[in-house]
Amino acid sequence: MQNSKDYKKVGVLIVGAGPAGLASAIKLKVEMPQLDVCVVEKGADLGNHNLSGAVLEAEPLHTLLDSAVPGWHDSDDAKDVLASKVEKDDVMFFTKKLSFNIFFAIKFARWLGLGFGQMTHKGDYSVSMSKLTKWMGRIAKDLGVEVLTGFAAEDIILDKSARMARAVKLVHQGLDKEANKQPNFIEGEIIGADFVVLAEGCDGLLTEKFIEKAGLERQAPQMYSVGVKELIKVSVEQYDKFTSERVVHAMGYPIWTPFIGPGMFGGGIIYAGQQEHLSVGMIVGADWKYFDFNPQDALVNFKNHKFVKQFIDGGTVVEAGAKMIPEGGYYAIPRDPQNGAIGKGNVLIVGDSAGFVNMLKIKGLHNGIDSGIQAARAIAETIKKPKETALRYTELIDGSNVAQEMWSARNFRQIVGKFGPLQGMPLSVLGALLPKFTIERDYEAMTSLRYRLKPKQEFDKDSFTAMAATQHREEQPSHLTILDSNICQTKCTPSFDTPCITFCPAGVYEMVHDEVKPANPSNCLHCKTCQRKCPFDNIRWTVPEGDGGPRYKRM
Ligand code: SF4
Ligand code: SF4
Repeated sequence: MQNSKDYKKVGVLIVGAGPAGLASAIKLKVEMPQLDVCVVEKGADLGNHNLSGAVLEAEPLHTLLDSAVPGWHDSDDAKDVLASKVEKDDVMFFTKKLSFNIFFAIKFARWLGLGFGQMTHKGDYSVSMSKLTKWMGRIAKDLGVEVLTGFAAEDIILDKSARMARAVKLVHQGLDKEANKQPNFIEGEIIGADFVVLAEGCDGLLTEKFIEKAGLERQAPQMYSVGVKELIKVSVEQYDKFTSERVVHAMGYPIWTPFIGPGMFGGGIIYAGQQEHLSVGMIVGADWKYFDFNPQDALVNFKNHKFVKQFIDGGTVVEAGAKMIPEGGYYAIPRDPQNGAIGKGNVLIVGDSAGFVNMLKIKGLHNGIDSGIQAARAIAETIKKPKETALRYTELIDGSNVAQEMWSARNFRQIVGKFGPLQGMPLSVLGALLPKFTIERDYEAMTSLRYRLKPKQEFDKDSFTAMAATQHREEQPSHLTILDSNICQTKCTPSFDTPCITFCPAGVYEMVHDEVKPANPSNCLHCKTCQRKCPFDNIRWTVPEGDGGPRYKRM
């Protein structure tokens, strides 16, 4: 380990170059141009690990760019990233054969002032998350932020009181599978920092380590959804029929059918991209109970539904990927039990790492950017008093739209998880009136029930993974660990038929000589589903060396 005098030291170290972290970096440079700000990102390039639907409520981004980039509206990046403004916003309900547009119900709920009414998207932008991230990264670099891609962080070093962070430790590079140093070995650098912003996205490794080390607590366990998405090039006729300014959200089949099941939380999406591309995806609550279910099964069924098929039949999948979404809402935000701070001392948690997704809107990108901005403001205001920064950040969040939204959606996801979509959706209207209640963790929900709508043909995970362009250096220690293979053999396989082999979207897990193993770690999409869905909490995901993982370009 290096002597502390040898540390590289920066003013602000941001872990994760997603929209929340980059919003922080940009705003910091606007507020304090002389401050040295560094962003470390495990993806090989900006945007490579960023995937979402995505619908962007643009106000926080506009506010940020107005303060940072004069004339940004006219830039080629702005014209490219914000090309698809949503004019047509459909909410559908599917049965196996039929489809009904139920957007009138959302409008009615809005008129009544009910939470559901938030689920409108007109005036938002249908964006590529990877492209948005790349654009924000370029702006940050132009302002003087040091953005280091291909550098994975594995630990946060706190002082003795565990109230302040001193540094962040990066992952070693150049170890072989047995963790022996190879000739190209580079020791993981320790980067000292006056302030640390944790912006790793959903279920960030460093964030979870920090929560544990610093004694932060969630009032309710975090809940997750798994999203699988394909970007499909369709014909001009299909694209024109769908229209370039439209987003569709679909509930019901194939993850929820009233009375006869299945009954899972989530739905399908079709979003217009550019140049005859449509984003088609399926988002499923990770509290699904079917042991043989894989969100890709639902994606296949969704794509085969008559309503969806008309727009994509004969199209070509050009990119694909998977990611989790934090859905636990207000009560799952990690806080300091002593003062409620979303962080501690000089460490702030932003974006999906904090869980700022508003499930009533099914959107969180705007909150991520907003929280990044608030983090920057808090640092600028407390630059000489870093012990107070997390608390100031929390005050700013509490006074912002982020907290308002999170509070309005409290309990929503838990109610639907507890009572199922049929009863839970109507009951969720009362969500804000109910006291906090928690439900079991996602991984505890698995049962011996089968998914009734399992497609006959096995999903082609190899092609899916190839479309994510994922790669890792083969000769490195596996970043996936099964803690106790005995549990697999004696408990899980007999009860649930080794579900990690089924639900991992990249086919990482396989039976090798009668023992389940993460046999193909280099296929991993970094979605972390296995860590949260293994029914015995028996898998640990650690960070592989930087540069690995998917290489999303337009997801
Ligand atoms: Fe089951 Fe988890 Fe073992 Fe896979 S790793 S077989 S999901 S216990
Ligand atoms: Fe996702 Fe785990 Fe599979 Fe990697 S191994 S793709 S993190 S489920």
